[in-house]
Amino acid sequence: MMQATVPITGEDERRLQGAQMAKLGVRLLNKYGRHLQCDVCGATWSPQPNPDGSLPRGFWRCPNRCNW
Ligand SMILES: [Zn+2]
Repeated sequence: MMQATVPITGEDERRLQGAQMAKLGVRLLNKYGRHLQCDVCGATWSPQPNPDGSLPRGFWRCPNRCNW
């Protein structure tokens, strides 16, 4: 699986992130990407953002490892 790096600095990046998440089998439950749902198993999780407001590496990974 390709490692995604997703900078979150503005609206364009958020739209791009949504498209990337769809490819990874993950659904964004809100537009800020702070609440995610796995399309495979339906698990939901909330990645903790870094101090600078960006999301951590691999934040899109399902806790059940569907998309690792
Ligand atoms: Zn899953």
